[in-house]
Formats: sequence, C-alpha cells, structure tokens
Amino acid sequence: MIGMTQKPKILVIGSANMDMVIQSDHFPVPGETIIGGDFSLIPGGKGANQAVAAARLGGDVCFITRLGEDIFGSQNLLNFQKEGIDTSYIHQIPEVPSGVALITVDKSGENTIIVAPGANAHLTVGDMKASEQRFEETELILLQLEIPLETVVAAAALGNKLGKKVLLNPAPAQKLPDKLYRYLQLITPNETEAEFLTGIAIDGEASAEKAAKFFIERGVQDVIITLGSKGAYLHSSNFKGILPTSKVTAKDTTAAGDTFNGALAVALGKGLPIKDAVNFAMKAATLSVQRMGAQTSIPYIHELSIP
Ligand code: ATP
Repeated sequence: MIGMTQKPKILVIGSANMDMVIQSDHFPVPGETIIGGDFSLIPGGKGANQAVAAARLGGDVCFITRLGEDIFGSQNLLNFQKEGIDTSYIHQIPEVPSGVALITVDKSGENTIIVAPGANAHLTVGDMKASEQRFEETELILLQLEIPLETVVAAAALGNKLGKKVLLNPAPAQKLPDKLYRYLQLITPNETEAEFLTGIAIDGEASAEKAAKFFIERGVQDVIITLGSKGAYLHSSNFKGILPTSKVTAKDTTAAGDTFNGALAVALGKGLPIKDAVNFAMKAATLSVQRMGAQTSIPYIHELSIP
C-alpha cells in the first residue's frame, strides 16, 4: 500500500499567490464601482497547490518559491509550515509584493482573474544553483510554468544532470524551448495545453497519441495528457491508451490538475509503475472536483484507497 511505505522526497519549484475572491451578481464595467458579496482570501498558485497536494498525499515535500515581505507572504509561509512542507528554501524578498490574483465570480459561476506575479518573477536561475544540495537529496522534481521560463529550464537541467526524475506540468501554456524537453522524464499537459504545444487538437486516443509522439520525439520519456472527466491518456514504454476515471458529479474543478500532479509525483516517488500512479492521481483528483475551492478541495492520503 502506498500509504504504508516511506515518504518520498519531492521537490516542488513554482509559484505561490494569494487569491482574493469577491462574489458578485455581475461584473463592473470599466469606470464602474459596484458593491459585491462575500470576500475570501485563499492561498493559491500552481506551485503552492501542487506542493500542498503532494504533502497531503504522502510526500516529504520541500517547496522552493519566492514571497513578498508582506502580510500575504507571511500568511503563505505559515500555511506551508502547517501543511508540513519544508520551507527552508523559501525567501521573502524585501520591497517586492507577493504574487496575488484578483478574482471576481458572478452568479453564473463565470469569473474574471488578473494575476500580478510579484515575487514569483524573482525566482532566478541563481536560486536553482544555490539549491543544488536540496536537488541532490530529492527523488523527484515537480515544475510548472508560473515562474520565469529560464528558471524552469535551469531547474530541469540541474535535476536531469543529477539523475533525478523531472516532471513538468506545462501550465499555463507557453512556448517552450526544445532543449527543455530533453530534461524531462514526464510531461503532463491538459488537452488545451497539449494542443497549444503540439498544434494537434486532442479529440480522442489517436490525436492524443500523435501529440504524445511530438513530446517523445523531442526527448521526453513519458507523456500524460489529462482529459478532465474522461480521465487521462498515458504514453509510456509499456502502456499507451486512455485510462478512464470514475464518473462523479463535479462541483468545482479548480485545482483538479494541481491535485493530479501532486498525487502523481508522490506515487512515482514511491516507485509505483506509471499506470498505477496515474490511477492514484485520478482518484485524488476525483475527490477534489467534488469539493469547492483550490487548496480547500485537495484530499489527504487517509481519504484514498490505494492500488
Ligand atoms: P484544472 O481544472 O485544475 O485547470 P486541468 O485542466 O489542469 O484542471 P483536467 O484535465 O481538467 O486538468 O483534470 C485533471 C484530472 O482531474 C483529470 O485527469 C481527472 O482525473 C480529474 N478530473 C477533472 N475534471 C473531472 C470531472 N469532471 N470528473 C472526474 N474527474 C475529473
């Protein structure tokens, strides 16, 4: 059982934000001020969400990010410590604001979001070099694309040089240099990101296989394309095909992808075969879509029955 073996060391490198959410009947038009409804302050950012998911699901997680020296930075730091995440490589940068997302949600559930990356834009190539010892101690490195791309490339190159498994969740999608693919053990786009990166629209198994080959030809070893309620397409050396997920009534799919990636990292870090790791990640993500919110929806290891 995955829950009974030793905790794998996972290094997550990425963004941390504070999401400020206002519920409102409707959106203001330019120049208008309106009175909205409830307000909530929710820790977020893809890096932070994936680090929290990996920690809750059985990983020994170290998270590298940059925070501002402000109230949001301090609150995020406290939150990571409460989750049992190693924060010794997290720094608060003076005179730089923490990353924030201003989110409005109208009564139909539609939202508008503006992200100010703030301190996330200050995670540098030099910071990766300075963390080399932590890279050496880890089993697996998990990256996304909400920090500077050159930092992502440097982290992947260092992980690869040290013989570590490097996972990239290429979200939000942006153009990637070909050399990055060579450093990756695994890439995990969703359908939209896979289409953006490969130019192939994903509408079934054949197109998913074609898109996976795009990544494999560039040096990635294994590919997972997440397919929302349809599950995930896996392309590995001994399995190629769609792995379906259980049918559930989704309440809120926010952070489904982050839960999937955090869970996947833990399962692979524990040495599970990749097909079993995908099934574990889908079980975790299935739980998350049945709950509201981002980090609030991420499940704990004791909530899952494991292959
Ligand atoms: P996010 O909504 O966090 O941006 P994403 O677009 O990165 O998610 P998806 O492919 O939508 O990623 O979902 C990731 C995984 O979450 C899927 O592979 C699946 O296991 C699970 N999932 C997402 N939506 C549903 C759903 N409606 N029902 C069941 N599982 C789901």
